[in-house]
Amino acid sequence: MDVGICCREVEKRMRRLGLSMSKLKAVFVSHEHSDHIKGLRVLAKKYSLPVFITKPTLQNGRLFLDKHLIVSYTAKEPVTIGELVITAFSKLHDAADPYSFVVSCRGINVGVFTDIGTACENLVQHFSTCHAAFLESNYDEHMLEVGGYPYYLKKRIRGEKGHLSNNQALELFTMHRPAYMSHLFLSHLSKNNNCPKLVGELFNSHAGEVKIVVASREEETAVFKIEAMHEQNKKPLYNLGLQMQLFA
Ligand SMILES: [Zn+2]
Ligand SMILES: [Zn+2]
Repeated sequence: MDVGICCREVEKRMRRLGLSMSKLKAVFVSHEHSDHIKGLRVLAKKYSLPVFITKPTLQNGRLFLDKHLIVSYTAKEPVTIGELVITAFSKLHDAADPYSFVVSCRGINVGVFTDIGTACENLVQHFSTCHAAFLESNYDEHMLEVGGYPYYLKKRIRGEKGHLSNNQALELFTMHRPAYMSHLFLSHLSKNNNCPKLVGELFNSHAGEVKIVVASREEETAVFKIEAMHEQNKKPLYNLGLQMQLFA
């Protein structure tokens, strides 16, 4: 999902995690903002990866991708890549044609939900099916308010099509997480208007059994195994190896 860091940095992070680049089979692009596409062209070309992208995103991103690598997707038709099924759904964000994704494998659902102004019905519905979610927790409301950003930018971030605040993300988590959610990855934290420690403390105080991980802006997040449990003997039913370090 997305390539917001340069190709060389992706390679470095994959190597540090012991993951081969040959594990990458395709890239899905959520929207055209530069923090989601910076390394896309080079990575796709170097590894001949199909890029799933919608036409408005392609046009607005001014992405000069090799034509044979471009594949379109829509919200209505899930895409199968090997054992994974990727379902896209539209979200509220100030881009041309923005989407979030749920990746499913043998009944396990992992959501990738960043760059969202408002937790719309689509998001609530998909979040409530996820065993794990990579969820934006972009800004602390007070830090944004008293910080040095110009007014128009504060308004954009807070707006209906901007970003989710820590409190908005927490509300989605506490109100709509399913009983079987095991991991929550807080992501897309603002460098200037947020604090990883604060986010960790806030969510951990409401987490119960859910493992809370705050994704760093600077380095890769560890690989986690997401498992479904048998109700009776709590043995893993299926598992899905996860690697979620491609976001800037
Ligand atoms: Zn972004
Ligand atoms: Zn964005």
